[in-house]
Amino acid sequence: MSTTTRGALLYEGKAKQVYATQDPDLVWIHFKDDATAFNGVKRASVQDKGEVNARISAHLLGAVGAAGVPTHLVEVRSPRDHICTRVEVIPVEVVVRNVVAGSLARRFGREEGEVLPRPMVEFFYKSDSLNDPPMSDEHALLFGWAEAWELAYLRHAGLRVNDVLKAFWAELGVTLVDFKLEFGRAPNGQLLLADEISPDGSRLWDRATGQHLDKDVFRRDLGDLGDTYRALFARVFGHGLDGGAAG
Ligand code: UDP
Repeated sequence: MSTTTRGALLYEGKAKQVYATQDPDLVWIHFKDDATAFNGVKRASVQDKGEVNARISAHLLGAVGAAGVPTHLVEVRSPRDHICTRVEVIPVEVVVRNVVAGSLARRFGREEGEVLPRPMVEFFYKSDSLNDPPMSDEHALLFGWAEAWELAYLRHAGLRVNDVLKAFWAELGVTLVDFKLEFGRAPNGQLLLADEISPDGSRLWDRATGQHLDKDVFRRDLGDLGDTYRALFARVFGHGLDGGAAG
């Protein structure tokens, strides 16, 4: 058991709170039940959402780390609290796609569901006030957001993470359509996969029924997000949140 203790609130985002700890190189990340979409325009509180995201994310960050992509996760402190290496977040959202959906369909007039011939990596500038616009390497380089080697790493690591996650979800009968990753610079200079890997930042479609198993249920009013997330949890872990039968 670690002796890390929670200090002052450093930052509060839409779905998580980040606290200091007594160790300057570690932060304490708390997953909230808040759901937001369209850059915070649509909001709700969804019971168990924070716990489902935290536990699925811990599981997937562990799998990705074991596959050779270092992550910020140091310790799972409680069902909804992670102790993580403190990073300087690179303001480049890395989206990896296997199937056309969402903004890719809208921007280019493509049908949702079109399977891509190989995975696509896209970069978006992480800025709430600008609604995360799509960006290229040139923007990152000339505006000083990331160096060339870092962008190369983000692409390479994104594709490696895709290999791991695609196989993981396929085993469970789920198509990994796309997902978003964030990376940061650790105090020792190493690039780490940060943030979370969860149904909040992924598109997951049931292979048999096409049902959406992710935050699009909330964005598009397709059903009850809490029920969707609890069912996804049961599919991943083989039991419900309380350890009992899936339900
Ligand atoms: N995504 C995210 N945060 C964002 C934007 C997108 O986690 O601020 C995720 C989203 O859940 C999806 C993927 O990134 O899995 C691609 O999203 P897209 O660009 O299609 O945008 P959207 O349709 O969600 O606006």
